[in-house]
Parts: sequence; C-alpha cells; structure tokens
Amino acid sequence: MRLVAAVDGPAGSGKSSVCRKTALDLGMQYIDSGAIYRAITLYFLEKYGDSCSEHDPAGELGGVHILQYFMPDGSVTTMLNGRDVSSDIRDERISRSIGFFSDNRGVREYVNGLLRKWAGENSIIIDGRDIGTVVFPDAAVKVYLDASVDERASRRVKEYKGQGKNVDENSIRNQIIQRDFNDSNREFGALKRADDAVFLDTSSMSFSEVVEKLKQIIDSQVIHKK
Ligand code: C5P
Repeated sequence: MRLVAAVDGPAGSGKSSVCRKTALDLGMQYIDSGAIYRAITLYFLEKYGDSCSEHDPAGELGGVHILQYFMPDGSVTTMLNGRDVSSDIRDERISRSIGFFSDNRGVREYVNGLLRKWAGENSIIIDGRDIGTVVFPDAAVKVYLDASVDERASRRVKEYKGQGKNVDENSIRNQIIQRDFNDSNREFGALKRADDAVFLDTSSMSFSEVVEKLKQIIDSQVIHKK
C-alpha cells in the first residue's frame, strides 16, 4: 500500500535529517523539496550572478534538469544538468537568494509537478513548507515540525561546522528569521501548518526522540489503513 508522509516546517526544524533516518528505517523513499528550490537558485546564480533577480525564472526552466536520489546510506544526491550539486546547494549564498525563486508561482508549479511525478506509486516521505497543504493535501500522514529560533540557529551552525564551514551564529539567526518571514508570507505555497497535521515542537527533543515519534505516527497510519 502506498503511503505519502508530508513533513513541513521552518528552516532548521530538523526535517531533513529526521525524515532521512525515518525513511531508511521504514524502507520508504525520501524527497527533499528544499533541495530542488536550492538547485534552481544555483542555476540562476551561476547563469546571471547577482543580477539573477532581474530575469523571470519561470520562462527559463526549460534549461533546468534536476534529479534526486535517496542513497542507501540515507544521504541525498541532487543533480543539476548532469552535475552533482548536493554540496554547492548548501552554500550560504543560496539561502540568501532563494526567496526570489521560491516566491515565484511558475517555479513553484514546476517544483510541485516534479514532486508529484517523483512520488509516483512509492511510499514516500517528503519534506518542505507546503507539502501537506498544497502538493499532497490528501497525504495520509501530515506532520509539522517546529523549534525555537535559537535552537534552529544553533542546529544550522553545527551543520555548517560539520561541513568545515565557519559561520557567524548571529548572521545565521537573522537569516532564519528572514526566511521564516518570507516563507510564511509568500502569496503561493506559504509555510503553514495544515489543519490536520500533527504538531511537534522539537526544541527540547533529541534527534532519536523525533525519529521515534515520526515512525510511530507513520506506523499508526499503516495499521489504521490495513
Ligand atoms: O528546506 P530548505 O531549508 O533546504 O529549503 C530552502 C528554501 O526553499 C526555503 O527557505 C524555502 O524558501 C524554499 N522551499 C519552499 N517550499 C518547499 C521547500 C523549500 O518554498 N516545499
């Protein structure tokens, strides 16, 4: 039986790592929708540099070919026009420019089409901002993960440090506040908790506690549907 689990929440709420581990443990597929927006942003930044926001991205998406693979070790590989961009899309420069692209209706429709096509007939966990509200409103499982701004900033700093990047916590914190604002106030696909989503505040939960909780929520749906 196919099951779609939609996991939404703000930047740094731990969605990606929690979803990857849960998908591995449950033998499900996983899609990182934020990585697609990131790859689109990278494409236009590389093409137009700082003037990228002077071009209408929706009209140029024909030149963008994105693939994503959920690897057996639980990592995700994102390919842009045949090149592995998994590391490049995590650059801070992408986070600074992404709002322009993720606010664009044509870009959102393009990404939503990809997500629905990739999900196919698989049991899948997809994380993002509008997965349970717009992309898969009928998903059997909907979860909204959140955590305090301070906790999310410190998680992001740890993530960057783990990649050998030196970043200023205060500037990461401000970026998160800015992204929360942009993500919650865009005209289409705004970050919003679906009415039927389970809300999890992970501020004082450990990584494994959140994974266990998500697994329980998914399992209870599978049993319920049998
Ligand atoms: O999840 P991640 O932080 O990598 O997402 C990067 C950005 O992509 C978000 O801040 C948001 O602007 C955008 N995004 C979105 N809708 C999604 C997933 C990500 O607008 N479903």
